[in-house]
Amino acid sequence: MLKLSNRLQLIADYVTEGSRVADIGSDHAMLPVYLLQSGKCPSAIAGELNRGPFEAARKQGADAGLSDRLTVRQGDGLNVLNNGEADTVTIAGMGGSLMSEILEAGQATRKLEGVQELVLQPNVGEEFVRAWLLKHDWYLADESIVEEDGKIYEIMHAIRVSDVQERNEELYNGKFLKLSLQPDGLRKILQQMGPHLLRAPKPALFKKWRHELNKLARICGQLSESELAESAVKREQMLAEMKVIEEVLQCLLMDKPSSS
Ligand code: SAM
Repeated sequence: MLKLSNRLQLIADYVTEGSRVADIGSDHAMLPVYLLQSGKCPSAIAGELNRGPFEAARKQGADAGLSDRLTVRQGDGLNVLNNGEADTVTIAGMGGSLMSEILEAGQATRKLEGVQELVLQPNVGEEFVRAWLLKHDWYLADESIVEEDGKIYEIMHAIRVSDVQERNEELYNGKFLKLSLQPDGLRKILQQMGPHLLRAPKPALFKKWRHELNKLARICGQLSESELAESAVKREQMLAEMKVIEEVLQCLLMDKPSSS
């Protein structure tokens, strides 16, 4: 059986047993091949936009002897799906902004009707994905954070629930943070840093945000050398953003972080 990286394994672990899965942006189709080989999923669709990765996915499926249960299709985002064909959609390894565009287009063309869960792993811009889930009444049931080959990845598991408004309200109210921010500010920082990740902070979370703070500090340093008025405004915004992130980390440190 295919051995997955820790990142892909965490994604696979979130997929509900017995569901028909569609992996969008599937490249080598590692995830759907594993889900079929392990017996977790009865059938799978691998969708790929680009010719090279599409061919690689087809080859992986054929080499594994799974061509009867793995359908590989070339196309943009969720366009490769017929309505009602998948119970679970996974999208991994692309930016959060692109991922939310794919989801938005799929929503508009009703490709997500009948889909019961989403497992999403944006490489950057996680806040766009959380914002999309909130806007479209998906409940973010869980999140994981993992470091692999020097990079830190966040994985989100979203499901449909009948009392989604109340659950999301509770998830994003941020009362546990004990920060003196307005509700809008709290919601924004939870969307940025992850409501579950902040409730059970792992060392990888601290590492990621310390790295982000260093990056922001470097940019602020560059902006301070500019004489443009816009640069000064941008710098002020960044400093304010850094202050909130630092306060959140400080607040989390008051409770002992759990180990990764
Ligand atoms: N999902 C795999 C993983 O996480 O290891 C592969 C990630 S790979 C970095 C991203 C893949 O998404 C590429 O193969 C790219 O061609 C594909 N992709 C990008 N935009 C896409 C879109 N709009 N629809 C389908 N696939 C797309």
